[in-house]
Amino acid sequence: MSKAASHTPHIIAIANQKGGVGKTTTSLNLAAALARHKRVLLVDLDPQGNASTGLGLEYDERGRGTYGALLEDAPSEALLRPSVVPKLDVMPACGDLAGAELEMIDQDRREYRLRDALQPLLNRYDIVLIDCPPSLGLLTLNALVVAQSVLVPLQCEFFALEGISQLVRSIERVRLAFNADLHLEGIVLTMFDTRNNLSALVAEDARGFFGEQVFKTVIPRNIRISEAQSHGRPVMDYARSSTGALAYEALGTELLKRLKKKG
Ligand code: ADP
Ligand code: MG
Repeated sequence: MSKAASHTPHIIAIANQKGGVGKTTTSLNLAAALARHKRVLLVDLDPQGNASTGLGLEYDERGRGTYGALLEDAPSEALLRPSVVPKLDVMPACGDLAGAELEMIDQDRREYRLRDALQPLLNRYDIVLIDCPPSLGLLTLNALVVAQSVLVPLQCEFFALEGISQLVRSIERVRLAFNADLHLEGIVLTMFDTRNNLSALVAEDARGFFGEQVFKTVIPRNIRISEAQSHGRPVMDYARSSTGALAYEALGTELLKRLKKKG
């Protein structure tokens, strides 16, 4: 077997069943940061499609994307699109994805659909990130079945840790039933506000509870991050020296170091 054929990228699901915690923002900006060093694929599994939009993909150029991967028989390669970032491809989310969970209910191998679709693409990439929707339904399950690890954005807000234990239990359940390799990659503190004591308290709580699993890099609340998204660009491209850009670059470096350690 050739070396390319046996190559497996790191596949990381970015998940938290809470909405608005920074999953999509982290997915697209971390993907862009990683693409400086590696070949990266971002899989947009959120029916809102904000990760696709944030990387410059207009609705009419997305094709069938992840809906096609889950429910149609098109060759996976045809579902890929280049993003505004070199070395970063996207499997976008199209409008039909909103109905996918219901349509998949009576499908064969419904938990393995994404895994089956990504399989032929894996030797093209070093890292695959999957932006999950804000629920623990069948779409997220498909992500957890193909992923090796889960990165959890945690918003530095009231009740941040609530729901994390449920997420951790879900990861455990998927590990036992479908995917023995699955583990927690780490927790990323997002929207950290230095002027707000609560942010510091949430960070302290999270580190007390999860220790080293919390990334050292903290993502600050930074207006450039949301502005960049509305311009269809990652923040390091839109405002290169903003605190948001520097933080996502540091997160990319920290993640690569961790992955290298794991081998
Ligand atoms: P999720 O995908 O978990 O629902 P998003 O990534 O879409 O969350 O973030 C929710 C909103 O917060 C978006 O409007 C996004 O632009 C904004 N946002 C996310 N992270 C930051 C940040 N660090 N600073 C400022 N705004 C942010
Ligand atoms: Mg999202």
